[in-house]
Amino acid sequence: MFSKKCVKCSSDLKWKTILKAVTISTGYKFECDYCKAKYSVGYISRLILMVSMLLPITIFQKYTDSIFGGWTLVVWFIWAIILNLIAPFWVSIRLEEK
Ligand SMILES: [Zn+2]
Repeated sequence: MFSKKCVKCSSDLKWKTILKAVTISTGYKFECDYCKAKYSVGYISRLILMVSMLLPITIFQKYTDSIFGGWTLVVWFIWAIILNLIAPFWVSIRLEEK
């Protein structure tokens, strides 16, 4: 299902590795677990991810508040987690080194 491959060694890039890149790492960078090739997450993907995370607490807050009431923050938190969990499946990655 998840078929992002390292362009250098053709091994599968792990979901967990990319997940770390979009969450806890600084600068959205990660390395291939096998050959240590350096990658970064594409700018457009970062932007889409950030905008999707912020939409519910900015533009749609009016609606989320009326639907979820006091639970808005909790729902937003879960929403942000889900977005991050599925991010490795669609973000574009690029090789850092030549
Ligand atoms: Zn590799």
